[in-house]
Amino acid sequence: MQFIETRGNDGKKAEKVSFSEAILSPSASFGGLYVPESLPDFDETFIKEYGARYRDLAKAVLQAFAIDVDAQIVDRALMRYERFDDPDTPVPVVKLKEDLYVCELYHGPTRAFKDMALQPFGSMLGDLAQARNEHYLIMAATSGDTGPATLETFKNHPNVKVVCLYPEGGTSDVQRLQMVTEDAPNLKVLGVKGNFDDTQNALKSLLASDSFKAELRRRDIALSAANSVNFGRIIFQIVYHIYSYAELVRQGAIAYGEKIYLVVPSGNFGNALGAYYAKKAGVPIEKILIASNVNNILTEWIETGVYDLNGRRLIRTESPAMDILKSSNIERVLFDLFGADRTKAFMESLAKEGRFALNKEELSQLQMHFAASFSTDAECEAVIGDFAKEGYVMDTHTATCIKAYKTLREKALPTVIYSTAEWTKFSRAVAKALGRQFSFDKDALQWVSQETGAKVPEMIYALFEKPIVHQAVVTKEKIEEEMLRFL
Ligand SMILES: *Cc1c(COP(=O)(O)O)cnc(C)c1O
Repeated sequence: MQFIETRGNDGKKAEKVSFSEAILSPSASFGGLYVPESLPDFDETFIKEYGARYRDLAKAVLQAFAIDVDAQIVDRALMRYERFDDPDTPVPVVKLKEDLYVCELYHGPTRAFKDMALQPFGSMLGDLAQARNEHYLIMAATSGDTGPATLETFKNHPNVKVVCLYPEGGTSDVQRLQMVTEDAPNLKVLGVKGNFDDTQNALKSLLASDSFKAELRRRDIALSAANSVNFGRIIFQIVYHIYSYAELVRQGAIAYGEKIYLVVPSGNFGNALGAYYAKKAGVPIEKILIASNVNNILTEWIETGVYDLNGRRLIRTESPAMDILKSSNIERVLFDLFGADRTKAFMESLAKEGRFALNKEELSQLQMHFAASFSTDAECEAVIGDFAKEGYVMDTHTATCIKAYKTLREKALPTVIYSTAEWTKFSRAVAKALGRQFSFDKDALQWVSQETGAKVPEMIYALFEKPIVHQAVVTKEKIEEEMLRFL
């Protein structure tokens, strides 16, 4: 299958590219993104045939997209699910009550859902680079979860270097330790003095710097990206939505053909986009319910059709992975619904005026697939407290799903919420929800575990003992110098 561009073609890039090209060089004409030319069928027949084992399903999904990647490389990529708690069931679907199920996406090595896609994607990208004898640099600015998962997946890969920038003091202890203790010669982690916006801006100016680009050329290193603008991540995020459906059939919640709701805690909309593609490809999904925190620009967009950055400032919440105002993957939904010309116009309007607006007809099309709500930190704390009493401990991102589940469903259909992080990554917020405040993750972890009986995996406790190998915390101005030294 070939890949086309969300903002149309500029006459300089190829009009269509293969999957491997789309993932190695993910930036498309006019700053757009790559999308598949069409979608395969993931209908009842497909789900029945492949839905039983996760890795078989993942392989069948990749095959259905007819990607130009050798079977050996695909198999190696899917072997990464061996690193999950239960390799045969990397994403357990657990019944919480009546018609409410939770699909746990956090059983990978960094305990957040980023592993679901980044683990196989990293293996695949690295192997492709090696097969072509090419060298890549992946740069990430992270507010917490992308960084650890990106470092972990590319660790020790000879053809890929990774640089990860994080805001000093802007992550949890566990997230920071997951980064600064990653010891491999191809990894560089830098703390940046400032907040996440400063960190992202520092990355942008580095990527625009002529001296930096010249140095990369001199060393024959190409830039790629591991964020969810890369379709190589999205493809793996379609799989678990199909799997959740198959699992609900197996658990007797539904019969084949009956519809379900999915609730997705969203930031850059990669997870939700995977659900949207699954729905479009034939999985019986009634609607995708988008859960946000008080950075509720997605809620506003889905309710009113207006996406407006003006007057908004990023608010720091206890669900930091969703503290996002420019949500990158809605562009792929816009393209799918309204085509390239309209998408380009929307994106230009967003860049120039800070907003774009769907018309009435377009809004009703969007609302055929999505509904949205947001929760405050206080609402999430209450949810965490309620569920902990019933014996289930969830993290702050997952908690935003419950209000969407309670308020947005128009039909009483079985519902899957997605748990995107283990509570251990946000233990201080979870402890606060349960009534105690701590200054350090380590104390919060122990207390919550004692209080609720929830287990802390060995790899989390081990972080506190590991030597810190990336000590550097620098000002924005010093980043380029540090980078050049690393390269
Ligand atoms: C990345 C992340 C999200 C948001 O996912 P998107 O695909 O960017 O919408 C939600 N929760 C957690 C814990 C995350 O790490």
